[in-house]
Amino acid sequence: MKKNKTNNGKTEKLQGQNGKTFDPMALTWSERYDEQISKVWKLLPESVAKIIASVAVFILGVSINGDWILVWVHLIKQFGHRSVNATVDSRWFTLESLRLNNFLSFWWPSLVVSYGLYVGIGGFIHWYYYIRQRDRPEEWKCQPQKWLSPELEKHEILLGSFTLFLNATVSSLLSCYIYNGGYCTVYYDISEYGWLYFILQFPLIFIYQDYLTYWLHRIYHLPFLYKNFHKLHHKYKQPTAFSVTAIHPVESLHIQITLATPLFFAPIHWFPFYASAFYAYYHGIIDHSGVNFKSFWWQPWQPDAIFHDNHHQYFHVNFAFNISFWDKLHGTYRRKDRVYNEDIFYGTGKTVDSVTSEELAADLEERELENPLAYRAEMPFKLSDKEVKSLRKSK
Ligand SMILES: [Zn+2]
Ligand SMILES: [Zn+2]
Repeated sequence: MKKNKTNNGKTEKLQGQNGKTFDPMALTWSERYDEQISKVWKLLPESVAKIIASVAVFILGVSINGDWILVWVHLIKQFGHRSVNATVDSRWFTLESLRLNNFLSFWWPSLVVSYGLYVGIGGFIHWYYYIRQRDRPEEWKCQPQKWLSPELEKHEILLGSFTLFLNATVSSLLSCYIYNGGYCTVYYDISEYGWLYFILQFPLIFIYQDYLTYWLHRIYHLPFLYKNFHKLHHKYKQPTAFSVTAIHPVESLHIQITLATPLFFAPIHWFPFYASAFYAYYHGIIDHSGVNFKSFWWQPWQPDAIFHDNHHQYFHVNFAFNISFWDKLHGTYRRKDRVYNEDIFYGTGKTVDSVTSEELAADLEERELENPLAYRAEMPFKLSDKEVKSLRKSK
């Protein structure tokens, strides 16, 4: 099932199914039932349909790292059994001594719910953007002429499912440990540190986590770490909502554990912590969706989806996630007069004079594939015909 340039991938995938090839990817259910879903969908008023789609993105975000089970435990501790304190077995390495009593009753619900949401909600989102609007990509897609091949779609869902398994396992270990009274610095009673500190935690945790992920991401773009780990996530030059969890297991665990550390080192109320985490997960899906989403007026810090789409198209540039200022601050924000590709490391690209004519031609070709509708004003990275001519002449 090889994708050809003029086709859009979907037809070929369906041909594969008609040809009775077994497709292990559960998400294709939404392609199979396209007609039925469309019929129901048309009955809904547009505003309701839009709300359902946004809520679906949010629920997928909540499920992708299995963090929902941690929130569940904090809710129990906040409103009910705060005195949960399992008896501690003094022998080493028993589940009790590690405060992991009843671990299985955390683990399997975490996996079942997380994977169920991934397939169910993920399939719906796939249908909503990639099936329903497949015939008019120029209206909504960041790179309208290019689609992820069916092989890569499968690859990202398989890899994404595997990292989901690992992340959900870590989340259930943490939640079980915290439920059983294991050490952590989370507090529940707002009056313990006052309202001012409670409210300040929203921006503080958000800024701390986002700046940390900027650096983690930038470090994973250093040649050694990139080639051995992060390159896997960059197989998807046209990312989709499923690319967000499709990262190397080592990198995925590293990020999850690093982001969880504040729960053990600073007095943190669970609510601002998870509000910030879910905001980031929601935008992780939006930013990888390949759809030309714009941020809202109340999010002046938030880049539009094309910002991270550019990161996938041009590789070593735009490392930030939810605050694009970090790239501006450190000189890794994409520039019109620079050339970027997978072999140009360190985030600053190369000046036009220092690249070969092939590199320049490839970069100019990439720019043609971008959708002007993904930007707010006219294409900020498009060179005028005159500029292109003089550049080509100078080579
Ligand atoms: Zn990257
Ligand atoms: Zn990405």
